[in-house]
Amino acid sequence: MKRETREYPYDWILWSILENASKSRDGTAKEYERLLGLMPHFSDILQSMVRHGEPGIIFLKLLAEYARNCFTAHDQGRKAALTSFCLATPILYAFDVVPVSLEVMTVYGTLILKRGTSEFLDYCCEAGFTETSCSAQRGALGAYLAGLALKPDFIICDSPGICDTNANSFSFASAYLDIPFYQLSYPPTLTDERVRTYHHADFRNLISFIENHTGNTLDPDRLREVVNEAKIQDELANEIIELQRLVPSPVPGIYDLLLYGGRFMMGGRKIYTELLESMLKTARNNARTMSSGTASSRERARGLFCYIDHYTTDMRFWRWMDDNDISHLGSLLFTFWQEGAPYSKGKEDEAYRLDDSDVDAMIDSLSSQMSRMPMVKQIRGPYDAPQMWLDDVLGAVRILKPDFVAYLGTMGCRNTWGMVKLLARDLERQGIPTLILYGDSFDDRVASWEAMVDKMSEFMKLRRILT
Ligand code: SF4
Repeated sequence: MKRETREYPYDWILWSILENASKSRDGTAKEYERLLGLMPHFSDILQSMVRHGEPGIIFLKLLAEYARNCFTAHDQGRKAALTSFCLATPILYAFDVVPVSLEVMTVYGTLILKRGTSEFLDYCCEAGFTETSCSAQRGALGAYLAGLALKPDFIICDSPGICDTNANSFSFASAYLDIPFYQLSYPPTLTDERVRTYHHADFRNLISFIENHTGNTLDPDRLREVVNEAKIQDELANEIIELQRLVPSPVPGIYDLLLYGGRFMMGGRKIYTELLESMLKTARNNARTMSSGTASSRERARGLFCYIDHYTTDMRFWRWMDDNDISHLGSLLFTFWQEGAPYSKGKEDEAYRLDDSDVDAMIDSLSSQMSRMPMVKQIRGPYDAPQMWLDDVLGAVRILKPDFVAYLGTMGCRNTWGMVKLLARDLERQGIPTLILYGDSFDDRVASWEAMVDKMSEFMKLRRILT
């Protein structure tokens, strides 16, 4: 790692950029315009949020608050838990623990920093972690291993069995940083009573682990507050997805990132509710005028991403979709399987329900929410088994009616690479043009963003999706 890279803590750099960015629209429009000229390095990423109006600005504030918490947890007298995007945050917020998601911190770096996270990716290998692991964790993990971020108090992950490379990165971090570690097991099925009982018991062990390491017991009032906030958020998300079904879709493509990113960071917190309400307001207004959420308000194509998105600098992925008037109908990360979600119609037993009737009901609800998180639900086993990847993608295709489906992932993702050709074959058999993109969503060195654009453009032309 270059000496210059070690000069400032990674989490501090990200927080200081985001903190300033989140305040940039507090002044007048003229002040903002002048500001852009003074910060050529960050003006594109700032503009990519601000041009979406209120939801973009709230998202910036949410990003800044999350980064501030990750960086100042100990100053605030709070514990910090290193964790994974697929671990639902409400239980941590119920304990006032700061979740520090490696994947979120990686995406901060890839979206905001022109240099990306390559030095941290490589540093993990210098420290002894395998280079065949997933870049989603490794992009930020390198900074934590190098001591360039706040040292977490403990680690919690829920990926063993679902994604070994994800789980290994947390177990490596635990050994390397010498901090306590809890691995929540995944339930092999979702609707079987024996499995559900086991998972609920495992979740209670997780709660005991948090109690031991925070010195606090679970406060029922605080738990209820978080559960009720999450309930409101689920209802708002359901309405946004319902609106996406319209043709043209009135939901701007960037809301894909806002919806799942906001949830990975602030699920159960008020600021995420505020974000969803603002998104819904814009989407409803677009629906009223039958405008699409794309740049020119007209929809030329509809795309669904069957795994994750591309997190290249300055959010150029969503910009490209927008500029080509392609409605982004969400990725797999968009599906959380809350009760009432349009994709859960006819599959109600697969969805979770937040029940606040008593403490046990709330704990069991959060445990069920955890087991439906993106990746945990779909990538647990055979891609074509009931309730898994193919089933969920076909369910989303049925309600959202995309013109194409595309796969984007990471080089280390053995889980999906092992099945994606079969998934694509099955989708094509159902008449859905499907594109597999050979690149890495977090590491532009594998394939440049420009190469990705070439592939997507070629596919759109050959399959006569965009003419
Ligand atoms: S992208 Fe693939 S390798 Fe990375 S965490 Fe998800 S399933 Fe695991």
